[in-house]
Amino acid sequence: MPVFIGSLFGKNSVIRGIASYLGWMSDRQNDLSAALDSVTDPETGRGLVAAGRAQAPRLAEGIATVILDVTGIAAERRELIDIDIKRALKAVDGVEDVRVAMTSQKVKRRIIAVGSGKGGVGKSTLAANLAVALARRGMKTGLIDADIYGPSLPRLMDAEGRRPQANADKKLIPVATSYGVPLLSMGQLVEPGQAIAWRGPMAGNAMGQLVDADWGEIDTLVVDLPPGTGDVQLTMVQKYKPAGAVIVSTPQDLALIDARRAINLFEQSEVPIVGLVENMAGYRCPECGAVSDPFGEGGAEAAAKELGIDFLGRIPLEIAIRIASDDGVPPAASGEAGADAFNAIAGKLADWLNR
Ligand code: ADP
Repeated sequence: MPVFIGSLFGKNSVIRGIASYLGWMSDRQNDLSAALDSVTDPETGRGLVAAGRAQAPRLAEGIATVILDVTGIAAERRELIDIDIKRALKAVDGVEDVRVAMTSQKVKRRIIAVGSGKGGVGKSTLAANLAVALARRGMKTGLIDADIYGPSLPRLMDAEGRRPQANADKKLIPVATSYGVPLLSMGQLVEPGQAIAWRGPMAGNAMGQLVDADWGEIDTLVVDLPPGTGDVQLTMVQKYKPAGAVIVSTPQDLALIDARRAINLFEQSEVPIVGLVENMAGYRCPECGAVSDPFGEGGAEAAAKELGIDFLGRIPLEIAIRIASDDGVPPAASGEAGADAFNAIAGKLADWLNR
């Protein structure tokens, strides 16, 4: 056949024809790439090709095919990008139809559970400040308030009354907060003031909605568990296998069996304990700044040692911490009242996570 064509049209003209066809192909390829790159990646603000979201489109029989990595892009945005890509590529000569295949690398998300034996020991306060401090260290951190008995994180994070929307896949979209830490709370799922008295499966399902939400790029979730060892805690440890657990206790609580029960729950489920935090350890006088220790000093550290877990640090009982928390300004964000203690503990947690 080549000989026949060659003899009919002359060898040089065939080579020229092939070369010009190949040239047309590569021009077309460049046009396709440029068209695809004219669509902006919402994350980096660059073109989709430059941002590494997609390779050059393939064109076969008039159909341009694009394989797009949509990791971290919210579902609504994906639909808009799909429309933009189709519009841009259809404008290229020779393209009759466009197919966009979206792929997503599942972000490996790790959970840090914050637990305590009983309520009122400052578990939520610690969870909020740890999440804020981790985010300030550059970690993509989200916060879940799973405390069905007293969801207090919306207030602590200045997000009271804000309801999460659902995305096209019916997943909850966490509420953005002023502190760079998106938040979902059991308290956002029910009417304000409505008593939350969920039991068993209901609480477990609600927990699932919070964990399997549209967290996007978030890779570390700090979860404020209810106090004690009930259904939500069991669902958490069994179904969502936290990477680690931080236990909060007050000095007077340590002698009690509660904190040990919480520790046992995690140990039995093979959830590693990051360590113990002693909250309300010593009272810092707002007048003179001196710290007094009504319950003695060093008790928590000794108890941690006895329990065979690490001691992560102590946070003083300080009126300014309570006031800032009520105002929705976590000390770890403002750098005031107790910030140093929270930051030091967050540093240990970060080291533990990156170990
Ligand atoms: P829990 O989550 O264990 O029930 P919270 O974090 O809601 O406890 O704290 C209970 C109360 O104690 C809140 O009013 C909070 O502001 C206050 N609180 C917590 N830690 C401290 C602290 N170190 N100094 C002063 N007040 C604190």
